[in-house]
Amino acid sequence: FQAEDGIRDGIVRLVGSEMCIRDRQHTVAEHIHGLRFERLTTEQHHKLEELVIALSAGSRSPMKAGYAGFGKVGVAMLASAGVMFVAAVCWGVMNSSIQAQLPGLYNALSSVPELGALLVIAAGGCGLLGIAQRSAAEQDLSDTRRRHRAQLELDEVRQSQNTLNGILESSLGGVCVLDTHRDEAGALTGFQIQLINPAGEQLIGKPEKELVGKLLQEALPQLIEHELYRDLLLIVKEDKPIQKNYQVGEEGRWYLVAMVPLADGIAVTFLDNTESQRNRQQLKHIAYHDELTGLPNRKALIEHVDSSLKRCRRTPGHYSALLFLDFDRFKNVNDTLGHEAGDQLLIGIAARLNENLRDGDMFTTNAGACLPARLGGDEFVVLLDGIHSKEDALIVARRLLAVFKEPHRIAGTDVTSTASIGIAINHGEYEQAEDILRDADSALYIAKQNGKARYVLFDQDMQDKLIERIRLEQDLQQALSQDQLSMVYEPIMDLQTGKPAGFEALLRWTHPVHGEVSPAVFIPIAESINAIGEIGRWVIEQACQQLADWKSMGLNGHFLNINLSRIQLYDADLVHLFESQIKHYGLNAESLRIELTETAVMNDLDFMAERLTQLKILGVGLALDDFGTGYSSLSVLHKLPFDTLKIDRTFLEDARIAMMTDKTHRSSAFIATITQLAEHLRLNVIAEGITAHQQIATLQALSCQYAQGWYFSKPLHPEQATQMLKNPTQHPACLSAMLDPETDIDAIA
Ligand code: C2E
Ligand code: MG
Ligand code: MG
Repeated sequence: FQAEDGIRDGIVRLVGSEMCIRDRQHTVAEHIHGLRFERLTTEQHHKLEELVIALSAGSRSPMKAGYAGFGKVGVAMLASAGVMFVAAVCWGVMNSSIQAQLPGLYNALSSVPELGALLVIAAGGCGLLGIAQRSAAEQDLSDTRRRHRAQLELDEVRQSQNTLNGILESSLGGVCVLDTHRDEAGALTGFQIQLINPAGEQLIGKPEKELVGKLLQEALPQLIEHELYRDLLLIVKEDKPIQKNYQVGEEGRWYLVAMVPLADGIAVTFLDNTESQRNRQQLKHIAYHDELTGLPNRKALIEHVDSSLKRCRRTPGHYSALLFLDFDRFKNVNDTLGHEAGDQLLIGIAARLNENLRDGDMFTTNAGACLPARLGGDEFVVLLDGIHSKEDALIVARRLLAVFKEPHRIAGTDVTSTASIGIAINHGEYEQAEDILRDADSALYIAKQNGKARYVLFDQDMQDKLIERIRLEQDLQQALSQDQLSMVYEPIMDLQTGKPAGFEALLRWTHPVHGEVSPAVFIPIAESINAIGEIGRWVIEQACQQLADWKSMGLNGHFLNINLSRIQLYDADLVHLFESQIKHYGLNAESLRIELTETAVMNDLDFMAERLTQLKILGVGLALDDFGTGYSSLSVLHKLPFDTLKIDRTFLEDARIAMMTDKTHRSSAFIATITQLAEHLRLNVIAEGITAHQQIATLQALSCQYAQGWYFSKPLHPEQATQMLKNPTQHPACLSAMLDPETDIDAIA
């Protein structure tokens, strides 16, 4: 028990009760934050009382205070010694003047010299006593008042302490005071527990006696490696309070902890916050995860990607990649097997991603951290954070392609949904998650365009093409309403008569900036933006109207071929459209022929058979376009009611080159085989892309009846086609070309 700065011995310090001994200017007072009286012995009580009184009396210690009362007596004694000295001097002076002026009195006094001295001493003593008495009385009075005031303060302190103790005892939150523990050199070596309240004991799960007076590392060794301990050290270092949630212990309970720096320690208050923390985490989980698959959602992904991009900018050689996945035929599963099956497929996809993308997995070790996320629908994204080269990303992409080639077992059936993957790599150039996501999406788009079930790595050239394509998409939306579409008609010649037997209606788009855009370019775009339905309908109407016009001019007896997309076949209104057009214009249904490529009718053969049969029943003809370039599947010919085969122009072109170089030409053999097959199946044959006279001879030799191509005529505008029909024999590129073997494509072009 020390009265000086080391006052803490034997007294327990508490938090924040500056009410004790406040308003006093003592350094000691600053160290006393609170006192728990009931923990002191009686002797300590007395000492404490003395201390408080001493402090009140203006001294740092009771010792000094004891002497303080004697100070004034000392002054008084000094003063009286001075008075006596002055008196002695005065006596000497007075003595000599009496001797000179009052010799009688001098003689009288000289006979008893002690009397004079006594007189002076008595006078001085009386004066001195008076002063001493006065000052002693004053001293008494002031000490009593001070003692009284000190007593009052002590009472006040006790009262405050009782209140404080009451609060601590009844507090539901834990309160703990830690003292910094230092070595001899003053370096921080740990924290000593100075106080713990009952709630604190309960929350920590240890009684007070196992805590108070102990070092934190002894009492709660599990905290030493914990973030909380690091924060305690930080508080001492920076002298700033910290309030945080910490997850502590094996059960993973959460505690809200407030830590406030004290002069030589830390006051800690804490609450069990597990419930609200778990609720909050649950809410956060909901906000950051996809409900169906449990994978992180777009919001979570964007945050992860953003922080990954930051890391890449800071750390040279640290790259990241985004793999944008889209699942082919997912829509089909939804449409044919129902949404529940679709959901099962998505859950299955998420499970495969989780299984195959674990951090530290054999094949992902080089790919850093993997984060699969679901953006919505069948769109999934995998973030690879911390790759070293693009090859790391490609390895993952290849692995995923293989993984998704395997069928999923859904609702008792095997469903295969392959993945298309677009990849964008960040070498530090991307600023925002949205940008890299957009580029990965662009690459995905190309992957799908290129035939799905593949990956494509994004590059800038691709981006430019994509922007161009997006512009075309936007322009195409308005092409119809802005009258930019038109029809041309390519003659199909009867090789026996040398006259046009019919035409193929071909669509043209005159773009306001780019001029003529090939249908080979814009038809797939129209299909992808769902504009083909409207455009296709318009084509059918135009073609029927053209036939009607020709009919009204008396130009009958020829057919008109119309190209159709696969998507149009799924239009439930298609058959009705043809029916109503035929009826409306009073057309001969047989003069209308629909051209479909093999790829348009592959897959879903049963449906196609049904739909084509409906059209066939109307009397409309059906031609299989570009035969030989697709699957050339006999089951298409076998199952579907086609009546015409169109031999693709690549065969004719090859045959022409072979003839020119006098080589034996396999293409001619193919053409012969196809025509024979057609003959056996009683199908008409049209050879496409005739560019030279020799080809005609070959076709005639193979008894191929019809042919079209630029050798005869390029596609004609409606008026030109009308003219050709009116005067077939007069058409320049028609019969004359057939008659003149020297004419070839170049001359016509
Ligand atoms: P396709 O149905 O095979 O049409 C024949 C294409 O070959 C036409 O190209 C035609 O101009 C071209 N061609 C004909 N003879 C020759 C030749 O001797 N040499 C060369 N180099 N080409 C020749 P076009 O008009 O550019 O059409 C391309 C494709 O676009 C068509 O191929 C067809 O698949 C599609 N298409 C055209 N119009 C429509 C339409 O209205 N609807 C749909 N769905 N597709 C259409
Ligand atoms: Mg065609
Ligand atoms: Mg064709």
